[in-house]
Formats: sequence, structure tokens, C-alpha cells
Amino acid sequence: MALDEKSMVDGFFGEFGGRYVPEPLIPVMDELKDAFYKYKDDPDFKKELAYYNKEYIGRANPLYFAEKLSQKYAAKIYLKREDLNHTGAHKINNTIGQALLAKRMGKNRIIAETGAGQHGVATATACALMDMECIIYMGEIDTKRQALNVFRMELLGATVIPVKTGGRTLKDAVDEALKDLIENYNDTFYMLGSAVGPDPYPTIVREFQSIIGKEAREQILEKEGRLPDYLVACVGGGSNAIGLFHPFVNDKEVEIIGVEPGGKGNKPGENAASLNFGNKGIIHGFKCFLLEDDNGEISSTYSIAAGLDYPGVGPEHSYLKDSGRAKYALAYDEDALAAFHELSETEGIIPALESSHAIAYGLKLASELNEDKIIIINLSGRGDKDVQQIAELEK
Ligand SMILES: *Cc1c(COP(=O)(O)O)cnc(C)c1O
Repeated sequence: MALDEKSMVDGFFGEFGGRYVPEPLIPVMDELKDAFYKYKDDPDFKKELAYYNKEYIGRANPLYFAEKLSQKYAAKIYLKREDLNHTGAHKINNTIGQALLAKRMGKNRIIAETGAGQHGVATATACALMDMECIIYMGEIDTKRQALNVFRMELLGATVIPVKTGGRTLKDAVDEALKDLIENYNDTFYMLGSAVGPDPYPTIVREFQSIIGKEAREQILEKEGRLPDYLVACVGGGSNAIGLFHPFVNDKEVEIIGVEPGGKGNKPGENAASLNFGNKGIIHGFKCFLLEDDNGEISSTYSIAAGLDYPGVGPEHSYLKDSGRAKYALAYDEDALAAFHELSETEGIIPALESSHAIAYGLKLASELNEDKIIIINLSGRGDKDVQQIAELEK
């Protein structure tokens, strides 16, 4: 059985993924899975999703030929411009898709967890548009670190609940959201923000993010008359990357490279590079490569880019690494910062710090290639949200 068919049945990508959840959540996940496979190819659902992709998000966004960078580094560099989407990143592709699915399921109360606040804002945006109640769980510490995103969510009509248990960060917010779901699943839909979590979430998120790779494929065939040699995307949980990669996975001539946050260095706690430094383990209901400390506890993580700061990684990336189909490289904080400046100065595009990791690796790769090679780099988001952080860092 092909991988996609098998994961559709049992939720596993090789040995990764699955559904390691408390008993009461099993029927909830089954209901979600049934609804997803019922609607994903339904003509009315597809038509409605296509309408919002075009008219609200602003798709298709360009596959931009970065001419000046290409001259500088020889290889042809194309940027997939997810930064031009409404709200400025790829996360909206997924929240609009899941909101439409929740509507079909008759669930009008949306809950989500958020760490840096980006997924919370994308969720609150979709809920405002679709007239849905929106509750965002966020660790109390994160609400203070990301106060501006809390304000954005509230402007959009969401209720932000600061979670005061445990370490008061993302992990505790996930626990609270799951508790809410178990109590309220009759009218409540849990909107997950990356290609992680128990089956069927990694597949749902991949489905809605795959619009990135589908467009890029059509666009590069139109511009170059052939597929690219390389795809490059940053990997936090892995949703923007799997969205670009998935439509090319069966094209063996296309090399696939995910870029993980190397942070300050290779020691435990200094990075969030689960595929480079992790062991196989279970987190948040699924099996993947996972950063652990010497006692086998989930390790503390760090990245200059808040959106990449997660100790686990999507199960499909874990499989792509294990099977050798994709490679996972590192970009350190300083590489990302340099790329942030270089793209701003060279092309007049200020990238998100997350995306800057992909740019950093993509440029390094381009410098080693000749001019007939083609690289597509996913520009997952714009950098407006990061400008203040950089200003303070470089003061
Ligand atoms: C959240 C975020 C990421 C990381 O999430 P993935 O699920 O790995 O894509 C990357 N880039 C931007 C701009 C983000 O907001």
C-alpha cells in the first residue's frame, strides 16, 4: 500500500504519527477523521475553499524569481510568496480550511492553543470571518511575551485564556485545550496549527497547506518548463514545509530539504532541531523525533524565531527523514539574522525570522551550484512581526 493510503487508514507514516490520546478523545478523533475524508473531495466544499483562498487570502500568490539573488549566487532562486497572504503567513491556509470543516460538522465553538501567537491570530481571523466563537489558550508567560498578538486576537473578537498551570507556556496551553475538548466536544472543534498532533491532524493540516506546493508546481512548469532541482523550507512543526514538499514527494529528481532552527549551537537546550538531534518518542499524541534531556524528559528548546521553537516535529517529516527521501539541514540564529538582512537589502522583502532560516540555507546551497539549477525557497511569512525584536537585538 502506498504511504498516503496507509496513513489514511491507520494514521501512521512509517512508525511515526498514530494517535496516542486519552480514551475519551478516540471517538472525537474518529468523528473528525470521518468528516475530513467525507468533505475533502466534496465538490461544494472544494468550491467554497477555493473561493476563500482566492478572494480572502489572496491566492494564488506569486512564485517570484529573485533575480538579484540569482545573479549573486548563480543558481536560479525562486521564492514562494506566502508572506503576501492575508495576515502575512501560511497559517491562514490551514485555519480557513479547518473552519470550513468545523462548519460542515455543525461545530460553532472553536478552541486553539498558541505559543508565539501566530496560530492564535490566524484562528481568530478565520473565526471572525465565519462568525464562530473563538477561545485561545495561551501560557501566561507567552501572553506577556507576545502581548501585541493577544491584543490582535482580542480585536478579532477572540477570548484569550492565560494558562497558569505548569510551566505556563505552550505545553500547558495544549493540555488545557485538550481538557476543554474532552468536556465540550459536542459543539467544539479543536483547531490545530501545524502538521503535528494525533491522527488525523497531520493529514488535515497537510491537505490545506498543500496548496503551496500545488501552486508552486504549476508556476515553475509555466516559467521554466520543468520541475525544480531543490525545494527548501523551514521546519517548526512542519506545516509550511510539508505544504510545499508533499506535491513533489513522488518526483524523485526533486531534492527536498527542510531547515531546522540551530539556535545558538548543538548542545541540548540551545536549539529546536528535533530531526537533527532528537530521539524517537511521543509528544502531544503522536510519535516523532523529539528533543529530550539526559533523563528522557522533553527538553527545553530555543530559537531566535518563536514560531520554530517546538521540541517535536511532524510525523511525516520524521518519516521523510528516516526513509531518506528528504534531508534536514540546520541554520543557526546568526545565519537566519544575516539572511533576514540580505533579503531585505537585496530584494526589498523583509522575511519572517522563521522563513529566514530557509533563506539562509537556500542561499548557501545556491552558492555551491551552477546557473542551470533551480531552487524554490518557501517564504513562509513576512517579517513585520519581527522588526522590533531585531531592532532591540542590534541596538
Ligand atoms: C508558525 C510559523 C512557522 C513554523 O510553523 P510550521 O508549521 O513549521 O510551518 C514558519 N514560518 C512562519 C512565518 C510562521 O508563522
